[in-house]
Amino acid sequence: MSAREPSYFAKCACGKFCAELYGEPFLMGGANCYCNDCVAACYYCDDKARKEGKTNISMRCADYQGAGAAISCWLLDNLRITSGKDQLRGFKMSAKSPLCRTYTACCCTPMIYIGQKFAPRWRAFNLNCVTRASDGQPLKPTEMSNVMGDFALKEAWDQIPAGQPKYKMIPWGLFPKVLAVIFLPFLFPGSTVKVLEEDRAVPGMFIDAAMVTEVVSAETYVAAGVRVPKALLEDKKGK
Ligand SMILES: [Zn+2]
Ligand SMILES: [Zn+2]
Repeated sequence: MSAREPSYFAKCACGKFCAELYGEPFLMGGANCYCNDCVAACYYCDDKARKEGKTNISMRCADYQGAGAAISCWLLDNLRITSGKDQLRGFKMSAKSPLCRTYTACCCTPMIYIGQKFAPRWRAFNLNCVTRASDGQPLKPTEMSNVMGDFALKEAWDQIPAGQPKYKMIPWGLFPKVLAVIFLPFLFPGSTVKVLEEDRAVPGMFIDAAMVTEVVSAETYVAAGVRVPKALLEDKKGK
């Protein structure tokens, strides 16, 4: 079997981290997620880069306060991290969150944003990091959807220009595909996700979110200009 030629790369700002991506993105071409968690996570990584004097590739889709996070989804079968696995750092949006997001230690670039809990067979990358293998041009999705409006800051959501697709959650047409990919492993036990031993503890790949100790604070949400989730406020009271 010959090695597959990547169609895209996902690279951090300094180039230490690189993943090869094969074929085309899973689901829609790309999405701007406006949920509070994604927006606050963008702010967290950008703020970390600024404090550490590093130049990162931000995940924000636009330059106004509260704008969404630009994501590009890839099936596990269509991605391979070729360098910089050791640069991935996991963080969570609350202590109990089952979702591990990542940035690269080298340049604080947000990288793998949606891990195994909600996406057992795919991972969401920072769209702004994805370039075409043939000419190095950025991946320009044919379809770009603004999603999770129900969890968005109204002012940011209302700034989306008229005519651009907007969804309260995700486009309805995608549900069957998402559900199939989530439930296929359970329906067909033989098709379970293959986990390489070396990827078991890699943030964003297969790490157990309970092991992730870097937790975003309520102050981060406030600074990002979005609503602080109840879980974080209750965490604080409990301490
Ligand atoms: Zn880097
Ligand atoms: Zn989100």
